[in-house]
Amino acid sequence: MPTLLRVKCWINCLLNTKMIRLLRYYLPYKRLLTLAIVCNMLMSIFVVVSIPALLPFLQILFSGAGDGVTPTQPLPHKSGFQNQLDLFFEQLLLNHGREGALLIVCSFLVFAFLGKNLFRYLSLYFLAPVRNGVVRDLRQKMLQKMLDLPLSFFSEERKGDLMSRFAADVQEIEWSIMGVMEALVREPIVISGSLAYMLWVGPSLTGFVFVLLLFSGVIIGSIGKTLRKQSGEAQSRLGTVMSLVEETLGGLRILKGFNAEKWQSERFGKENDSYAHTITRLSRRRDLASPLSEFLGISVASVLLWFGAKQVFAGEITGPTFITFLYAFYSITEPAKAFSAATYSIRKGLGALERVEAILDAPLAIRDADNAFEITEFKDKIEFRNVSFQYANAERGALENIQLEIPKGKIVALVGASGAGKSTMADLLPRFYDPSEGQIILDGKNIRDLRMKDLRALMGIVSQEAILFNDTVRNNIAFSTDDASASEVEAAAKAANAHEFIINLPEGYDTNIGDRGSKLSGGQRQRLTIARALLKNPPILILDEATSALDSESEKLVQAALERLLENRTALVIAHRLSTVQHANEIIVLDGGRIVERGTHDSLMQLSGYYRKLVDLQAIG
Ligand code: ATP
Repeated sequence: MPTLLRVKCWINCLLNTKMIRLLRYYLPYKRLLTLAIVCNMLMSIFVVVSIPALLPFLQILFSGAGDGVTPTQPLPHKSGFQNQLDLFFEQLLLNHGREGALLIVCSFLVFAFLGKNLFRYLSLYFLAPVRNGVVRDLRQKMLQKMLDLPLSFFSEERKGDLMSRFAADVQEIEWSIMGVMEALVREPIVISGSLAYMLWVGPSLTGFVFVLLLFSGVIIGSIGKTLRKQSGEAQSRLGTVMSLVEETLGGLRILKGFNAEKWQSERFGKENDSYAHTITRLSRRRDLASPLSEFLGISVASVLLWFGAKQVFAGEITGPTFITFLYAFYSITEPAKAFSAATYSIRKGLGALERVEAILDAPLAIRDADNAFEITEFKDKIEFRNVSFQYANAERGALENIQLEIPKGKIVALVGASGAGKSTMADLLPRFYDPSEGQIILDGKNIRDLRMKDLRALMGIVSQEAILFNDTVRNNIAFSTDDASASEVEAAAKAANAHEFIINLPEGYDTNIGDRGSKLSGGQRQRLTIARALLKNPPILILDEATSALDSESEKLVQAALERLLENRTALVIAHRLSTVQHANEIIVLDGGRIVERGTHDSLMQLSGYYRKLVDLQAIG
């Protein structure tokens, strides 16, 4: 009902650049959207024409026309059009009599409402693919962007929050698409048509209605404002709750193993409570809106009835005209309510769009340089030249002044205590992060100047934790190698000592391995990731050795597979078990982000320094 306020808010919304950004997503659906808009317009027109049609009906009903009484009472505001209308109905009465004319007028009403509802359905029919299409595009874009964004982006974000943007925020945007359609096309036509009619038959009455609406608008508007603020807060709390659900699912094994269910349940309970609290406050306010608006509506209608009836008594307007005026007024209140709901959902949608666009517009800190070089093979060596690195928001650097050369065909091992910077060093090579200072040179070229896709194509990564996807064994091995044949996949699996266990699975290579490979043992998972790297057959290998202990049988199988993987390759190996690095060409000992010792196993043992201490510690362990 707070029409004026809503109109103001709507104009603000429209001028808002965010609104224009939202409309940008509709562009690919121009045709469907145009059809929906046309149908909406036609629907509104049917609503508007049904209003004056009521007048002759009432006039016939109350005037006793057709029984020799004057068919229509003269109206105070006669216009050419009104005269035409009167004439038309007089003719109708003469030709068909009172009952016949009533029937025709009623049939017209039925026809008007049939038209209205037919076009209402058609507009929704055309709008459905637009709504779902925009939402699908947004989801797709978001996922693509997540794949493109550097890893550093994700260490700053909560996973659950990102997921709630995928689900809840995108849903809000979908609702706001409906809102835009209603607020932009349908309701303005109905409202302005009804208003025009009201102004035409009773200008002073209309002025009076305006004052009343303004008054109730101010009251309802103030509720709407806090509603919006609280809904933003609720959305972000939901993100935290989702984060905890995600964390619980991911950490079930440890939570159960450490009997920490209560601990996690309490953490979740705290967040869940405060979300429920926010939502309760929100619902109370929202629930207030409807009773309040009904009460205000009835109050406005009663005052209007009183004021209008006085005008009828004074002979300023006729009874039927007043009733038609009331009908027009009613025709405004419903769209005005819908309009107000629509602007509310547009605002919420714009808020949601902001959260979605925070991802879509996040800067790609790591991307290809303009005119990046193509590279198809690795010929000579990789060099770390004075490389230092500091994580964003970290107090101290993770790597300092690293000098290192990895010649083709050699294996360089990184060892050091936990937190020494080994993984960070390995992450710089495929450009998961860029060095803060210094350069990494591959065959004489800074890797920042190479095409990232080419650079990564040269590398295979076997991570500490076996990263597997909820898919078949075959797809998990072959996902980065599009054109791998079945026999190539099998050969890789054989070389990784995985073929034996795979063929014993219920559906062999087509067995689904469950979420993150949960249907396989630790050693089996590792061998699958090794098979994946063998199939890709990259010249450079980054191997983050798994720390989880395997039984000796499994360990032997994994070890043999790794040795096969390292054959004739250039490799950077993060070694946790020092027994595995003895054959490395060079061992780099890191401590606090610096290289403290380097050399072969034998030379470092002789040095009796840091490395030897590590070896002795492990021997005792
Ligand atoms: P581990 O053997 O335990 O895996 P590591 O030697 O691989 O350890 P890194 O993971 O490279 O160590 O970490 C080096 C330092 O950088 C540590 O002090 C760590 O706390 C810090 N660090 C790692 N990742 C981040 C991050 N995303 N943001 C901020 N600091 C980080």
